[in-house]
Amino acid sequence: MSTSSDLSPPPPSLLRPLDFPHKVLMGPGPSNCPPRVLAACALPMLGHLHPEFIKIMDEVKEGLKYAFQTDNTWTFVISGTGHAAMEAACSNLLEQDEVALVCQNGIWGERFADMVERNGSVAQKLIRPMGEVFNLKEIEEGLQKHKPKILFITHGESSGATAQPLEGIGELCHKNNCLLLVDSVAALGGVPMYMDKFGIDVLYSGSQKVLSSPPGASPISFSNRAREAVLNRKSRCRSYYFDANELANYWGCDDKPRRYHHTAPITSVYALREGLARLAELGLEESWKNNKVCAEQLWEGVEKMGLELLVPQKELRNPCVTAIKVPDGVNWKDVSDYAMKNYRVEISGGLGMMAGKIWRVGIMGYNATPDNIRLVLRGLKEGVENCKK
Ligand code: PMP
Repeated sequence: MSTSSDLSPPPPSLLRPLDFPHKVLMGPGPSNCPPRVLAACALPMLGHLHPEFIKIMDEVKEGLKYAFQTDNTWTFVISGTGHAAMEAACSNLLEQDEVALVCQNGIWGERFADMVERNGSVAQKLIRPMGEVFNLKEIEEGLQKHKPKILFITHGESSGATAQPLEGIGELCHKNNCLLLVDSVAALGGVPMYMDKFGIDVLYSGSQKVLSSPPGASPISFSNRAREAVLNRKSRCRSYYFDANELANYWGCDDKPRRYHHTAPITSVYALREGLARLAELGLEESWKNNKVCAEQLWEGVEKMGLELLVPQKELRNPCVTAIKVPDGVNWKDVSDYAMKNYRVEISGGLGMMAGKIWRVGIMGYNATPDNIRLVLRGLKEGVENCKK
């Protein structure tokens, strides 16, 4: 029998109160949550199949259909962050040796191609540098050359700060017997999205960006075409956790009684419900406009400071994530640290090839306000002046 002297002591850090700073999160996510979302996180627990929780799940589905502008029956939530939704899309749509054509103009295409290969499928790539977008001609050529089962493209690139025009891509995909998969983690709610009108077959997003909720509950939707493809697979989905048949049942998207598949992140679903309620009250058009107005305020302020934006064409910039080139003689991290220390505002650095070369500023949902943009501009301007090497 063990005695108390065998026990290691409880960690002293946990015997002190939680030490918590307040910050304005103006990086590419997570963004700050409005009080109603935080209040939802503090609500008592419900069971994952209790009728009251099912009602909340149903409200979330309605909110997602609105945010995505879709009538798809298979519209639900993946328990996990944006990467989980990516994995879910990949593992449900692709079987062994099937081909995905991946448009890569930043780290999201790169990561999706990695997931495709881990799934035993084949990733062919269309590659553009960060800061550029794809045109219909090259997409059509890629579809004809590789004859893929799916085409992956990122709507709002958060590493290269571009907004991919989506009109016409769905039509090309369908003409070539291909499904269109779109990542709108860093754009949904801040950039116009019409899932059905654009002919998108699978669309996913995240909760912690424009939806202003905590990370961990990621929206996803499958068109009838994509649903049929999943239902007609020759092999079972390699992932139990992400199997869309099971998830669609748990989320009440088929005509069978709901079964326990896993325990939904109950509190994150309450919070997402409130994030979606905020979007519904504001209205999509107003939300898109807010983002545009704030992004233009930021772009103008940055250029006035003599700094350069990574994406020269205004119409191709992602209004949810702006990339600003770090000038010679300045260390991006010093400026970012300056802004955090003096103004408690987050300005992020670059990812992948752009690490050290750009700052990234996120304009997302609840944080999309002129005051927050002024704070970023102030932190950035003073930071650059104070941190010149
Ligand atoms: N796709 C894009 C475009 C993103 O910006 C992100 C998050 N930065 C993800 C996917 C992955 O999301 P998460 O970090 O929530 O897993």
